[in-house]
Amino acid sequence: MKKKIVIVGGGSCALFLACQLDTTKYNVAIYEKNATLGRKFLVAGDGGLNLTHSESSDDFLKKYSPHSFFKKSFTKFSNENFINWLNKIGIETYIGSSGRVFPVKGIKPIDVLNALINIIHQKEINLFKKHEWIGFDSAHSLLFKNQKNNLTVKGDFFIYCMGGASWPVTGSDGDWLTKFDKIGIPTLPFEASNCAFKINWPIELINRIEGKSLKNCSFKVGKKLQLGEAILTRFGIEGGGIYPLSPSIRKEINDFKKAELIIDFKPNLSEEVLLKKLTAIKKSKNYSQQVSTLLNLTPTQLLLLKCYTSKEVFKNPKLLVIAIKKLKLELKETGPIDEAISSVGGIDLKTLSPHFELQSLSNHFVIGEMLNYDAPTGGYLLQSCFTMSSYLANYLNSQ
Ligand SMILES: Cc1cc2nc3c(=O)[nH]c(=O)nc-3n(C[C@H](O)[C@H](O)[C@H](O)COP(=O)(O)OP(=O)(O)OC[C@H]3O[C@@H](n4cnc5c(N)ncnc54)[C@H](O)[C@@H]3O)c2cc1C
Repeated sequence: MKKKIVIVGGGSCALFLACQLDTTKYNVAIYEKNATLGRKFLVAGDGGLNLTHSESSDDFLKKYSPHSFFKKSFTKFSNENFINWLNKIGIETYIGSSGRVFPVKGIKPIDVLNALINIIHQKEINLFKKHEWIGFDSAHSLLFKNQKNNLTVKGDFFIYCMGGASWPVTGSDGDWLTKFDKIGIPTLPFEASNCAFKINWPIELINRIEGKSLKNCSFKVGKKLQLGEAILTRFGIEGGGIYPLSPSIRKEINDFKKAELIIDFKPNLSEEVLLKKLTAIKKSKNYSQQVSTLLNLTPTQLLLLKCYTSKEVFKNPKLLVIAIKKLKLELKETGPIDEAISSVGGIDLKTLSPHFELQSLSNHFVIGEMLNYDAPTGGYLLQSCFTMSSYLANYLNSQ
């Protein structure tokens, strides 16, 4: 008789895992609490489905913290393997200017999701939608509730793919955490990642900068530096230049109740070059306007400089170029997890074997955003899900 694999959750990890499992060997069943599969995967596709990144393995791995947990599985299923696999199932991809990988024009996120679901149907995997996992019984069988009743599900292997705690509206609400705590599996509280950070903007400033972006800047917290773009909001600051700094910002906020963000408005020009440009300033003309024109500063950058430097500094070209290269903003708190792109916290990586099995509960495995690791946006989150799923599927297929 075939052994039974029970997959809990029907998101990115679960679907890819199911596609890879050998159903000539196993009976596979997916239990998802929503009425539909892959809701967060579809949300991820809203602004363009960034499936992975095209950079070299070494650079790729450096994006994960910690990257040690991920290295072994990534060498078996890398970004290149993922792109090839997608191509094989009819999802052609292209590399964008930033190195990010997307489905080609005309292939929508729902098409990618449906391609995965089609494979699952072909493999005759059982789908139980509207089935919410509510905990373990005393023998560690799984308890579910559906609209009508509660049921106990037994199996030979149990794979938990219930996601993290960001965007709970998609179903990934992190409610599972306490159930693992109850049976002695170490967990860590959830925190937002790839999220907004609060700045107490002066009121007269926020009305003028809300919704504006800072492009082609560098952003630094501690030793971590990131080039990119940030959006200024009523709450604070967020965007592609800020998200990769999330671990450093979170640490500073947790340790010191604030984090110092240093912005360089002109990362490609040295202080000397900037100062040289400012020698053209004429006393007879408007000083701010000349600074803005000579250094090609946007009105938003100029407003920030005026607000966060004294008149003496702003009027002194030597001190002004220092401020342009090192404008300091204080980040006060992490934005709401409900609006964050991802979360950290969840199952402690120390509790897992190299193939993602819970050391204290054999034949029970955890993958994806349920685990306490961090990765920036840029395709690194989805790639990690597919890498872990593929690695685990190979392990199970070889049992
Ligand atoms: C706005 C946004 C944009 C994003 N953009 C990108 C991007 O461009 N590129 C990228 O790489 N990543 C992106 N991500 C992140 C990516 O979507 C996630 O990292 C990934 O989906 C996590 O996969 P997962 O399988 O671990 O969890 P999920 O995809 O969250 O799936 C978990 C599933 O488990 C189900 N579930 C939860 N609890 C239970 C329960 N008790 N019983 C049964 N089922 C349960 C949930 O309903 C859900 O369907 C984005 C995320 C967001 C929110």
